[in-house]
Amino acid sequence: MIGRFKYDNEVFEGVVRGERVIVERGLYCDTFILSELEILPPTNPSKIICVGLNYIDHALELDMPIPKKPLIFLKPPSSVIGHHGRIVYPGTAKRVDYEAELAVIVGKRCKNVPSGDACSVILGYTCFNDVTARDLQKEDGQWTRAKSFDTFSPVGPFITDQGLDICDLSIRTRVNGKLRQDSRTSNLIFSVPELIEFISSIMTLEAGDIIATGTPPGVDKLSAGDEVEIEIEGIGVLKNSVVSDGDQIR
Ligand code: MG
Repeated sequence: MIGRFKYDNEVFEGVVRGERVIVERGLYCDTFILSELEILPPTNPSKIICVGLNYIDHALELDMPIPKKPLIFLKPPSSVIGHHGRIVYPGTAKRVDYEAELAVIVGKRCKNVPSGDACSVILGYTCFNDVTARDLQKEDGQWTRAKSFDTFSPVGPFITDQGLDICDLSIRTRVNGKLRQDSRTSNLIFSVPELIEFISSIMTLEAGDIIATGTPPGVDKLSAGDEVEIEIEGIGVLKNSVVSDGDQIR
């Protein structure tokens, strides 16, 4: 697992091994205790590419036809927060939802990647919460405002960098400890290699970019004071609390 951390005003990457974090310093390594470090978002993307309606069970839940090609949209990098970061509920929204998603982290700059070569451009995987102001999404008829508020892209805690077979992983959301989403990545309509081929045929992907692969059934609302956890098998748990606009530290 790879993470980004802050300690004593220094920001650095490290390899997470259990409760320890190993940081390379040229010829030697430093070892930190994980609980003593601030966990930052594990990547600093130039863009976040999201996929709408990409779980068969979610399409069935909504009684929507199975899409024939991926529906993609962007979230700005300014919306990213990390593990334990606080989701700020905007004063202009009346309904804010969680959406648990498997995130792919791009490993190198690439364009026009055939699905068969997709693995060569993937750094790893992590958990993502595509937080959405649902009422504003409906009001606007397009999604930029609803998806783009600061703090609306929790990601992490760490990136799995090797050996994870993502074809059939459990993906779950809990709100205040209660199970709200519970599916498997085997329900994805467009696989990760298919998404990389499709998206990279449109835009250049940069190292660190996030591809959020869509959410399973069970999407519902959040309230200030809630604690939301996204858990993906083999990756970990991304935990964030929700605060109202007036409660944030300015
Ligand atoms: Mg989504």
